[in-house]
Amino acid sequence: MLFDLATLVAIVAGVAKASPATGSSSQYPAIAPGTVITQCRVPGTAAITFDDGPHIWTSELIDSFDNAGAKTTFFINGNVYNCIYDMAPIIRKAYASGHQIASHTWSHPSLPTLNATQQDLEITRNNLAFKRILGIRPKWLRPPFGDVDTLTLDRLAAHDLKVVTWSMASDDWAGLTVEESIAKYDAIPNGTDVLALNHDPIQTTATELGPWAIQWARDRGLKVVTLSECLGETSVEDKYEFVGFPDEDDDPSTWNCA
Ligand SMILES: [Zn+2]
Repeated sequence: MLFDLATLVAIVAGVAKASPATGSSSQYPAIAPGTVITQCRVPGTAAITFDDGPHIWTSELIDSFDNAGAKTTFFINGNVYNCIYDMAPIIRKAYASGHQIASHTWSHPSLPTLNATQQDLEITRNNLAFKRILGIRPKWLRPPFGDVDTLTLDRLAAHDLKVVTWSMASDDWAGLTVEESIAKYDAIPNGTDVLALNHDPIQTTATELGPWAIQWARDRGLKVVTLSECLGETSVEDKYEFVGFPDEDDDPSTWNCA
């Protein structure tokens, strides 16, 4: 498509006016840290997301998304099923494949049960691990159980974190069979965009439900994308702050969850 100079200037000016804060070209307004997002904004998208990992099945799940040319988002814990440092190769694999990396706190507490200092530690300890493993600080966090209160939102905003829950939970964590979780997907009205919660540490989710959900979304005409894409975020800085890798004096032998 060709534009004359005057048209091009007008377009660029319009873009700049639409999103002065980030300079991104998104047609959607920037999302403020500390406000809770519960659904996608871009019509025709499905964010099939996974919490609580990584676990030993996660690598296979990444392969399923990669082979399908689809993208997902992982909300990662520091120390729940595994110590995050032991999972560094899987986290790097997901990141390198273009899947979105986000935080799910260090130890998966209900944040409102903690005081401000404890909540800060749940955030910063995970952030240190992401810095060490990827050189980034994720800008998105999903609070465990979706639990937030005023103090929690205040702390998350103070750490420049955007907050997301989900529009649909497969309830795989609650012991539902794959068939029962599939029924929950199928109950979503046709033509609706989807922000789905699943858990990759559950083996049948990683090996059956997750790959199934990719095809389910496509059969409905939905594009399977990252959280940020389903929200219309177009800049990589909407997802991550690039904080650099640790200095040489950050001894990897201290990278543990003790
Ligand atoms: Zn969780």
